Amino acid sequence: MTELWEAALSDLRGRLSDENFDNWLAPIRFGGVEGNTVRLRIPNRFFADWVSTHYLELILGSMREKLDRDDLRVHWEVDESLSEPPPRPTPEPAPAPRPMVQAEPGGSRMPRAATGLNPKYRFENFVVGPSNQLAHAASMAAASSPGNRYNPLFLYGGVGLGKTHLMNAVGHRIVQDRPGARILFLSAERFTNEYIWALQNHKINQFHERYRDECDVLLMDDIQFLAGKEQTQEAFFHTFNALYHADRQIVVSCDVYPKQIPGMEERLISRFQWGMVADIQAPALDTRVAIVKKKAELEGIALSDEVALFLGQLVKSNIRELEGMLLRLAVKAELLGHDIDLEFAKEALRGMMPRPETATTVEDIQRAVSDYYSIRLADLKSHRRQRSVTHPRMIAMYLCKQRLGTSYPELGSRFGGRDHTTVMSAVRKVSGLIDKNPTMRMELEAIERKLGL
Ligand code: ADP
Ligand code: MG
Repeated sequence: MTELWEAALSDLRGRLSDENFDNWLAPIRFGGVEGNTVRLRIPNRFFADWVSTHYLELILGSMREKLDRDDLRVHWEVDESLSEPPPRPTPEPAPAPRPMVQAEPGGSRMPRAATGLNPKYRFENFVVGPSNQLAHAASMAAASSPGNRYNPLFLYGGVGLGKTHLMNAVGHRIVQDRPGARILFLSAERFTNEYIWALQNHKINQFHERYRDECDVLLMDDIQFLAGKEQTQEAFFHTFNALYHADRQIVVSCDVYPKQIPGMEERLISRFQWGMVADIQAPALDTRVAIVKKKAELEGIALSDEVALFLGQLVKSNIRELEGMLLRLAVKAELLGHDIDLEFAKEALRGMMPRPETATTVEDIQRAVSDYYSIRLADLKSHRRQRSVTHPRMIAMYLCKQRLGTSYPELGSRFGGRDHTTVMSAVRKVSGLIDKNPTMRMELEAIERKLGL
């Protein structure tokens, strides 16, 4: 009969998001069928109520088909032992970090399966570059010493830049170091839905238990969703306080800086700033290329440096789109039985190329560079030889070559009628300095960001 449940589960897995499946269905244990009654064991009452309201029909539907009887019903049994921390994976326990789970006799624990974490989003798969270095370091620090100095950790940045990835990575790292730590990862939207549902169904106590008492690490994604929702903010405020004062780690992500969340209560905003606030910027080209390569490696896609560079140039600010592009390319190549060479990539993604009128020009780069170093555009193109001018000029030439691929003779004429060999040696000089000179790298990154490159 266990097979019956397994089959139903695999059915349901296909119909729910991974997050919902892992959160709500995976922790359920099958207790057998008697007559028309299916017994299911579940960690606590809140769980049973939530699953009944949201998934009972799905569960019954799938079981009815398999048992071929339509009078089935479910009997829930609360079984707190289901939420005991799992046994340690190795008989020889590694030196234990500060335990996060205090022994509370009879206290119910959320099972590990109910973390809501995405298995793909780990530190190991995260590419670190100047745009996300701070957020990455803060996340690592919070993960290695949860509830301590970086509490709360507030991560913010635009869409598709890795906030959700980092939060998941924090969760995975904590569970890995401290098996049994009770992690909850969820979006603020889901928090809101569960809260409203709990209110309507008189389950507020169970709701509080789930988020305050049974949680060691709360990872709350996209907090901007709470904007203007006063009552949910109030609930979150109290959850925050309870966790914070019990030294439980809180990580929050948002699309903007705390003060800029419209319609967010002042007292929450100030709490968000109690710990560490770290931003994620759009990655520069080098980082984008490194990310594409990493993704290709993870997905087993053979990708040349050339094509990785091409993809990195194509998508500028949203890593999710960049990944989408890579996958589209891989699928197309697979279907047509073709290698992913540069020609193929260009052809396959032709519709996706930036339109010429929006593409960056030599002129754009020259202006951005002059602005950045506060010199006149005319000086950049002149033959003056002061370092205050030669340095920016070199940088501008390098950027034009690297990012636009403009030819050396063309660049020579665009930079005040210079010989192409002069441009070439300037570009070569910058290339040679990049790795040794962090200041220069920073300057380049800043200019690229300004240009949206
Ligand atoms: P956000 O939550 O900021 O909108 P996500 O965390 O969902 O963005 O990231 C979007 C996609 O880009 C994910 O698939 C994620 O794995 C990937 N991604 C973003 N930044 C990086 C990075 N630095 N290294 C590897 N993958 C990344
Ligand atoms: Mg996200």
